[in-house]
Amino acid sequence: QAKARQGCTWYLYNERVNRSASSLADLEGELRRALRRDDLELHYQPRLCMETGRIVGLEALVRWRHASRGLLAPNEFIPMAEESGLIVPLGYWVISRALRDMQSLREKGAGELHMAVNLSFRQFQDSQLLATLQRLIEERGVDPHWLEFELTETAVMRRSDQVSGTMSALAKLGVRFSLDDFGTGFSSFVHLSRLPISLLKIDKSFVDGVTAGGDNGLVQAMISLAHELGLEVVAEGVEQAAQLKLLEGFGANQVQGYLISKPLPLAELEKYLSQQNKAESVVSA
Ligand code: C2E
Ligand code: MG
Ligand code: MG
Ligand code: MG
Repeated sequence: QAKARQGCTWYLYNERVNRSASSLADLEGELRRALRRDDLELHYQPRLCMETGRIVGLEALVRWRHASRGLLAPNEFIPMAEESGLIVPLGYWVISRALRDMQSLREKGAGELHMAVNLSFRQFQDSQLLATLQRLIEERGVDPHWLEFELTETAVMRRSDQVSGTMSALAKLGVRFSLDDFGTGFSSFVHLSRLPISLLKIDKSFVDGVTAGGDNGLVQAMISLAHELGLEVVAEGVEQAAQLKLLEGFGANQVQGYLISKPLPLAELEKYLSQQNKAESVVSA
């Protein structure tokens, strides 16, 4: 009886493993097709500069418009793309689309906006990364100074020489780098000061804890440390006006979060930016 049950459990377990393995393979095939068919889209989240009260940058965030499952968030397919290596072509699609949209925003007079694109550690394993990025930047005719790459601490720490060579070469072109999700990984300060990083993005999990009368020492210390190292600070995931006020007091340079705006498809972003501009000209008139 016990043996039979054991056998039964094993069977069920095995079945489930097989099923999830095959659906992962399905998903991989589907993502491959989605890339070919252009079923991915980028949404852009504005970043607000504390000092000027203006939108100074955008972060490109990928979504997958899936035929039957609707709009998929990155956490539903980026880990699989990293695992399978599909993140390499996907990453190029993202950069290429972001550069194109940057040019079109500029032509429509959206002004001078930095464009931040997330890069996975895995993308640095492609020996063609630097050459391809250079080619894409040239083809699109974008001034590299307006381009920023966001890397997580884990990406920066994992293969530092491989990563740092490419980073330095891009930094020479004028591209900026930011350290994403800061505080959630382990970065040594040696790396922070040795790599060409210009901005530190404080993770939402820390920003969530910023409250009036709260224990804000850690966030204040992160901001001071960043400034000490000559880095600018972006606070991520700001949802409440009170947090914005406090972060401003602590010296954060930029904020990004639902309080300012959710990530928006290009057409909505254009409307959002033109409303911002109108509001500003009313204020200054
Ligand atoms: P991330 O780079 O840290 O991006 C910030 C995430 O926080 C985004 O989620 C954004 O929509 C969300 N967020 C921003 N403000 C708020 C807020 O006020 N409240 C809440 N609750 N959330 C907020 P999203 O778009 O789902 O992206 C998740 C992650 O997926 C990103 O985290 C990034 O690590 C990854 N990702 C997105 N696009 C790409 C891409 O093109 N390439 C790579 N390699 N990774 C990407
Ligand atoms: Mg990011
Ligand atoms: Mg982040
Ligand atoms: Mg994140």
